[in-house]
Amino acid sequence: VVRLKDLRRSFSQGGVTIDVLRGVNLEIQPGEIVALLGPSGSGKSTMLQAIGLLEGGFSGLIEIAGTNASSLSGDARTTLRRDHLGFVYQFHHLLPDFNAIENVVLPQLVAGKAAGEAKDRATELLTALGLGHRLEHRPSQLSGGEQQRVAVARALANRPELVLADEPTGNLDEATADRVLEEFLKLVRGEGSSALIATHNERLAFRMDRVVRLHEGILT
Ligand code: ATP
Ligand code: MG
Repeated sequence: VVRLKDLRRSFSQGGVTIDVLRGVNLEIQPGEIVALLGPSGSGKSTMLQAIGLLEGGFSGLIEIAGTNASSLSGDARTTLRRDHLGFVYQFHHLLPDFNAIENVVLPQLVAGKAAGEAKDRATELLTALGLGHRLEHRPSQLSGGEQQRVAVARALANRPELVLADEPTGNLDEATADRVLEEFLKLVRGEGSSALIATHNERLAFRMDRVVRLHEGILT
């Protein structure tokens, strides 16, 4: 279970403070896929960043894998992030000099997995996403949809408890977005991970298990 309690985040700039998150509460059950909707500027990315333990400046409780992440030191946060979270962004952020399989192997090596095992896992994930014939292509040799599939495989490589995705198909045309999201959801379901997926696309959001909306700093 992932739990957020009274999550708050403000930004101050030029003497003006805006309260972006004003007490967000959310509980995500194991295996549950939650869509995060909300207009541009409502704080979706800010919320995902908080849960992703990527930066400070937040108050409230973030519980992942039975641990209150907000109380952890920097190193312990990094470990928690590495072992229990997966990330997919709007742009793939793959390493340009590494091929598809290497991009999926790398986070596993960082997490301490043996090379052979990591490679088997990468091959399994990429094949499940229809990229069995693209294993040795570098990102620049892949289409946008293929790049996002590799990013999805990378996010799932370490069997995360929670996958955080910020408009994962926002950079793709409608037909490709539909297909990639479908495969993404299927894979997450098969793996038993939970996911929180920010999207502008209401139609896609309603293919998930639950829809929450950010409105004026809280979830409705
Ligand atoms: P979009 O749908 O356009 O991606 P969003 O819901 O993801 O929007 P955020 O990116 O979370 O929205 O931004 C929420 C608000 O917080 C915006 O008003 C933004 O300007 C502000 N904001 C975000 N990051 C910072 C920052 N580092 N410094 C100052 N203000 C920020
Ligand atoms: Mg955003």
